[in-house]
Amino acid sequence: MGGEGLGINKSAETADALLAQPVERRTVLKLGAAFALLLNEACKGKPVKPKQEQNPSQEFDISPEAIESADKVIQAYESGYIGFIRSNKEKIDRIKSPYFRKLILETADLVQKNSKNPDKNFSRFLQKHPQLNTDNRYLNKDISQFFYYAESGEFVSVPQAVRANAAFSPPVRVMKIRNKFDRNNLLHQVSYMHELIHVLQDDEFRRNSDTKDEYYDKVLRYNSERIKLMEAYTKVAEIELLNVFSDGMLEKLPHPRQIDLDNFDFTKLLRILNLSNTDIPRLQNVILFASPYFFEGGAKGNKLPDLFVKFHSEVTTY
Ligand SMILES: [Zn+2]
Repeated sequence: MGGEGLGINKSAETADALLAQPVERRTVLKLGAAFALLLNEACKGKPVKPKQEQNPSQEFDISPEAIESADKVIQAYESGYIGFIRSNKEKIDRIKSPYFRKLILETADLVQKNSKNPDKNFSRFLQKHPQLNTDNRYLNKDISQFFYYAESGEFVSVPQAVRANAAFSPPVRVMKIRNKFDRNNLLHQVSYMHELIHVLQDDEFRRNSDTKDEYYDKVLRYNSERIKLMEAYTKVAEIELLNVFSDGMLEKLPHPRQIDLDNFDFTKLLRILNLSNTDIPRLQNVILFASPYFFEGGAKGNKLPDLFVKFHSEVTTY
């Protein structure tokens, strides 16, 4: 494909950035209409054009200060995330879908395993390997490790620009994390979980690819339907997790056509999840998908409800 460049999957990153955006009125109004439409009609996929790649030397800060600071951020992130999953094991065990229960627990094992990776700080890795090109940045079949890149900036509930709080770039296996985050904020942890599931999805692609070309063929085709399906899984993991944290409030949501996200009363949900008003835009996004997901009966094994997948595909544009 054109614009493979240095292998950052911009589509997936953009997808996360878009999902992190507040739900616009346009989307809210679309919710009921799109759902009604999907009851009768098949959704049509829109082709996504390959985007121009960025030069990573410009994209990543490899100054000694950045490297040192990233070490601390990564350590705090790892212990925070593993602690979050372990201390909430009882809640996670209440997730009804065995597939998602297992997937969510696996994300902590993944972080634990990677904590021993000597190259996990991507800034340092780049500094040590200045001649890096696309070929040797692809870690053939090696699914035991991935990199972190600590991006500067606060964790944002309402992004001003199209920018995600966390992102994962499959070919190079770099997970971007914010250097300022609050391990006690459930939504921050949920954002990380989302990206860790992308790492697990990437593991799967690598396991099932014998050659680099086969892998690229699977992952980097800029196939919008494939990307949307991968996103649908991460979205469901978020929904399933937040549902047990909210004592089942999400599974009791009304029918998608009866929800008005602009006038939805978030008081109880915010209180039970220990969140604040600034988190409402992200919760709107969760509710937008939780209602049709549970309405359609949730996941059966590793299969998502067809109508939910179509709905997700229809209301997300990337
Ligand atoms: Zn994603």
